[in-house]
Amino acid sequence: MNFSDKYFVIHYAEVGLKGKNRVFFEKKLARNISLSLQGTDYAEVKRLHDRIVVYVKDNTDIKEIENRLRRVMGIAHFELVYRTEKEITAIKETALQLAEDKAFETLKVETKRTDKTFPLTSPEVSSEVGGYVIQKTGTQADMYNPDLRFWVNISHKDAYIYTDKLRGIGGLPVGVSGKVLVMLSGGIDSPVAAWQMIKRGAKAVFIHFYSYPYTDKASLEKVIELARILSESNYRSEVYLVPFAELQQTIVTETPTPFRVLLYRRMMTRIAQRVAALADAEALVTGESLAQVASQTLTNLRSIEAIAEIPILRPLIGFDKVEIIAKAEEIGTFEISTQPHQDCCSLFVPKHPATHASVSELDKAEAVLDISALVDSTMKGIEKQVVSFSYE
Ligand code: ATP
Ligand code: MG
Repeated sequence: MNFSDKYFVIHYAEVGLKGKNRVFFEKKLARNISLSLQGTDYAEVKRLHDRIVVYVKDNTDIKEIENRLRRVMGIAHFELVYRTEKEITAIKETALQLAEDKAFETLKVETKRTDKTFPLTSPEVSSEVGGYVIQKTGTQADMYNPDLRFWVNISHKDAYIYTDKLRGIGGLPVGVSGKVLVMLSGGIDSPVAAWQMIKRGAKAVFIHFYSYPYTDKASLEKVIELARILSESNYRSEVYLVPFAELQQTIVTETPTPFRVLLYRRMMTRIAQRVAALADAEALVTGESLAQVASQTLTNLRSIEAIAEIPILRPLIGFDKVEIIAKAEEIGTFEISTQPHQDCCSLFVPKHPATHASVSELDKAEAVLDISALVDSTMKGIEKQVVSFSYE
């Protein structure tokens, strides 16, 4: 006999969401949940009054749905709710059904009764249901520190039962905070920077600069793979691939050696800004962390940024390398990032790069270059690829 049907109730955490904002936010979250559940046999994602509900079928793989929901940006927590007949035998059987795939030694049942005409009081329901599950599973009651809590709601129409809430990843639904262009290098840091921005609800578009034929094409493959991993939460992801060799060659022949990396960076920033305008992105994102390498001293960050016309966001600026590595492992990008590749910025780089180049020093070093012509001709070689995530 089937006593109940079940569905997930999704909760989000951001406070201060009102009126139109809330509708926009919930629509995005519901849409993203549907995208994340693609390929599973869930029944429906629905926005109800003040919550989002994921309906499942009788034989839906519940664990798979749980695993996917855990990774959807914007979910604070969620629970699997069993709806059942408003009848104590059905409620007891449903509680037992719910207990079956859980490991616990002690439990507590808490009951809320909206329907005051129900023949049992709330404490009576708790005691009946708890007693039954304890007897069938050989567990014990613990009123203070139970391994597992059961929540029973007796409403006017039905009864509802669920156990402890499952933790979501937090953050905001992707797409509610606008769009950013992430400078993705193939290294460890930039994919983590991208992830942090995606978690705050920014849709990420990616840009990568490569120096083929001076380097091989390994960085391209890595970046595509990294973008694919990130698209688990970013969904459909655009990657702009920029051939940078010719421009670098010009910098190498025309400008003073110690400033090379910084001048590469300035040119990358200029090109990225143009791409950001095309892609409708409002800011650039890098994986820079303060003083991690010579090009990331405060003075050098400032000298690069001096030519920027849109904000450059650096979500990892205050992270230690070990913290970034731990995050990269957690989000699944570390393994790809640590495969060998040659970054375009390590090409033709002097042994002793400038660690404190001023804005005016870089301006002067660049004065010999026809910057807009260089940017224009590089823009012509850009290719765009679109990647998406698949669980298969
Ligand atoms: P990462 O681990 O992300 O490569 P890093 O510690 O190697 O960073 P840098 O090489 O100084 O640091 O690069 C700093 C940032 O500049 C990178 O995090 C990335 O955002 C951007 N960047 C560097 N190289 C490229 C590239 N080839 N294409 C796009 N962005 C790049
Ligand atoms: Mg790098």
